[in-house]
Amino acid sequence: MRLTGDYHTHTIYSHGKGTVLENAMRAKEIGLQEIAITDHGFEQLAFGLRHERIPQLIADCKEASRLTGIPVYVGTEANLCDENGRTDLREEDYKDFDIFLMGIHRFVKFTHFRDFWNMFVRNSVDTTFHIRPSKSLVRYNTNAYINSIKKYPIDAVTHLNYQSFCDVVEVAKAARDYGTYIELNAKKVHLTDEELVKVRDTGVRFIIDSDAHTVDRVGDTKLVDKILSRVDIPRDRIDNIDGRKPNFRFRAYKEKNL
Ligand SMILES: [Zn+2]
Ligand SMILES: [Zn+2]
Repeated sequence: MRLTGDYHTHTIYSHGKGTVLENAMRAKEIGLQEIAITDHGFEQLAFGLRHERIPQLIADCKEASRLTGIPVYVGTEANLCDENGRTDLREEDYKDFDIFLMGIHRFVKFTHFRDFWNMFVRNSVDTTFHIRPSKSLVRYNTNAYINSIKKYPIDAVTHLNYQSFCDVVEVAKAARDYGTYIELNAKKVHLTDEELVKVRDTGVRFIIDSDAHTVDRVGDTKLVDKILSRVDIPRDRIDNIDGRKPNFRFRAYKEKNL
């Protein structure tokens, strides 16, 4: 299995170790046809991408693309901020980005106290102490994911269920219906094999990403390779392998609306 593009990599614009150019050079070196730089969203409290750095990020991606000869997309891994599905990529910023990923993260400027309480405190406590999550918490997270997929042209949900709990089948069905990918994340195990089988059976489409925070991990899929040796996912359901490129929703949305 050969990756066509890695659409989830971090740089020093958030808390990755490498520069945009270093990630791009690594992508080129290992034979990827394209790469996205997707640093953490603006409302990540410690190391989220800062608005004033967008022009430099765009310039860096352009320069890296020129030097490597492969497309280097400007992306972000937006944070899910409340049950209504709000993310921290605002529409006024769409013009500056090519790739729109979304995921649940911990140290985020959540919209209301109850969002902080559910998405951060309750998810963290239940994960840390291996407590079976309550139905209300699962409902809350599921609503947040689904509302976000419905409201925004999200390309992919990153590491679904990592340090959080949702009804993965319901989220996958929404993703399938709206053309959002479920990411198979090679940095962390985020779905059990049983959950992944259920997600697969919805018919949703996948991309594989490294979620690299260091240059050497760009394009690394080892963890996902192992999962795919146990869970049978038809190769034609994964859109960034075997020379194929994803049909990203955000790009289509921008072409139509901006
Ligand atoms: Zn993430
Ligand atoms: Zn990430």
